Amino acid sequence: MKYIDEFNNPDLARRLLDDIHATATGGPWAMMEVCGGQTHSIIRHGIDQLLPDSVELIHGPGCPVCVTPLEMIDKALEIASRPDVIFCSFGDMLRVPGTGRDLFRVRSAGGDVRVVYSPMDALDIARRHPDRQVVFFGIGFETTAPANAMTVHEARRLGIRNFSLLVSHVRVPPAVEAIMSAPNCRVQAFLAAGHVCSVMGTNEYPDLAERFKVPIVVTGFEPLDILEGIRRTVHQLERGEHRVENAYERAVRAAGNPAALRMIQEVFEVTDRAWRGIGVIPRSGWRLTDAFRDFDAERRFDVGGLRTDEPTACRSGEVLQGLIKPHQCEAFGTTCTPRTPLGATMVSSEGACAAYYLYRRLEVPARPVHVQEATTVG
Ligand code: SF4
Repeated sequence: MKYIDEFNNPDLARRLLDDIHATATGGPWAMMEVCGGQTHSIIRHGIDQLLPDSVELIHGPGCPVCVTPLEMIDKALEIASRPDVIFCSFGDMLRVPGTGRDLFRVRSAGGDVRVVYSPMDALDIARRHPDRQVVFFGIGFETTAPANAMTVHEARRLGIRNFSLLVSHVRVPPAVEAIMSAPNCRVQAFLAAGHVCSVMGTNEYPDLAERFKVPIVVTGFEPLDILEGIRRTVHQLERGEHRVENAYERAVRAAGNPAALRMIQEVFEVTDRAWRGIGVIPRSGWRLTDAFRDFDAERRFDVGGLRTDEPTACRSGEVLQGLIKPHQCEAFGTTCTPRTPLGATMVSSEGACAAYYLYRRLEVPARPVHVQEATTVG
């Protein structure tokens, strides 16, 4: 397969679906797709509605914008409001609500908030504005970590001292462990995020599959990728197996991307990290190592002590853990829409609430949906 339309081939999709239907004779089975990109692909193509009644897809926490805690958004707002700062971010963070405002409001109030398409763009801005402090909002999963690490590495190599990174990186395996350890967990298998595994490889997963007795199938993002991931998962569940399988072989090797891993290991170290609506998950994030701590925006702007409580109106924490579907939230489509979001899962281009709204998974009035300029991937 070389071209994108080949991943949408209806004949192949039908054959995969026939296999899933013929195989899913036991169950019921509940599997979680980890990544928000997979959730959008599933809802957009109606894949969940084509599956047997005995196979349920639970939407996972793999949307980087959604899991960035309110506290971290408030730190970004505080830094971006300073007159000497140029605050750079991917576009999808600008509308994520902090306490009482978002980055768009900071910009409309005179803050210098800029959308960039790469952290290296922010470094270039720092090079061209040596009299200003330039901060890049470095959020995301393992997928965005190598580029952010490389940018800090470059800043040090080039002696660019007016650049810093507001780090909010999270890691998938500790989240899988937290989900499986929750007393009300219904998840019996995982479709692992293919892009994360293209960086990290699959070596972190066999231990999780064995400990929790769950199949973990590395899965891509196009409709046929997802159907193939589901098909392999159903086969394992029906046979009572719990192995790690790679259904995204065109992008993922067991050892991952060695150059990217080297860069992450040089610049970041593992730390506990808070997830929006979920709380602190041990060892679930990265922070800058001591060697690069001078580039830490939290330290540079002294916002590390800022604490914020999550609002209770938004149930995104339950959505992110797969405990409810978005339309089970009372605010969905009424007080909470993409134009008036109460939580990040309605703002983000990878958020489950946004997917349900965008593809009309509830009777909601037809309204235009905000189009993002640039998005955080993974
Ligand atoms: S619909 Fe809105 S309020 Fe409800 S969980 Fe989703 S983002 Fe939060």
